[in-house]
Amino acid sequence: MELLHSGKVRDVYADGDDLILVASDRISIYDVVLPTPVPDKGRLLTALSLWWFEQLADLVPNHVVSATDVPAEFAGRAIRCRRLEMVPVECVARGYLTGGGLAEYERTGAVSGVRLPRGLVEASILPEPIFTPSTKAPKGEHDEPISYEQVVDKVGAETAARLRQITLDIYCRGAELAADRGILVADTKIELGWAADGTLVLGDEVLTSDSSRFWPAESYQPGRAQFSYDKQYVRDWATGGGWDKRPPAPEVPAEVIEATRARYVEVYEKLTGRTWS
Ligand code: ATP
Ligand code: MG
Repeated sequence: MELLHSGKVRDVYADGDDLILVASDRISIYDVVLPTPVPDKGRLLTALSLWWFEQLADLVPNHVVSATDVPAEFAGRAIRCRRLEMVPVECVARGYLTGGGLAEYERTGAVSGVRLPRGLVEASILPEPIFTPSTKAPKGEHDEPISYEQVVDKVGAETAARLRQITLDIYCRGAELAADRGILVADTKIELGWAADGTLVLGDEVLTSDSSRFWPAESYQPGRAQFSYDKQYVRDWATGGGWDKRPPAPEVPAEVIEATRARYVEVYEKLTGRTWS
């Protein structure tokens, strides 16, 4: 198979008309990949994404062809998908204000052109979920927020409206389901693409902790940084040890890796209601 792309965490291969999306056990914090992998992370995120694709199937068709018809060496952490022509927009929905959205709000009072009320702080809940698209930046560059009008210019009014609707529908469904299980979905990013028959299809991964911010509902408190469900432990360890967030990142001790793995298992089990084995 031809390796088309190798991201920080995933590798993408072409196999005939299909793609094989392979999730590794690599973990990145502050956009830097750690030298120490987290065992089972690739399988956990793949299983979570597959579970969400099923939960969302009535909202939007997805690119999954098979979770089992993949090369044996990738078993459990790869998905065979339809190769789509990806829409050149990162479709982000936010229910809470944090990260790049908060920074933009503090500068301009808006996020991706959506005006927000005054006085919002780190982790504030928004009056309603908003669509805050961004560009798909080439490797190594950062995605830039764009306004809805810019999306219209790129893809046309009809497609833009569908991107916004699907993104908000997925966010709302995901957030509602997660909230029942004690997890807040602060924001999430999806990617859509065109199938050969002209339908708009959900691609990439969906509602995983690599594409979304998950917060434990029980400790939610606006006005301060929230606990990151999966990466907080390793982030605190790395920065507490004096790491300046620039590559290379330090080797991570086994107990920190094990605690991090346990968080991924916990998120998977809480959301899906299944037991990880
Ligand atoms: P990083 O995650 O390291 O910041 P990245 O987003 O480029 O970088 P990945 O997420 O690993 O890396 O790459 C997945 C790539 O595959 C993305 O470019 C995504 O748009 C693309 N992709 C996902 N699903 C499909 C599909 N069904 N058809 C075509 N391309 C797809
Ligand atoms: Mg990606």
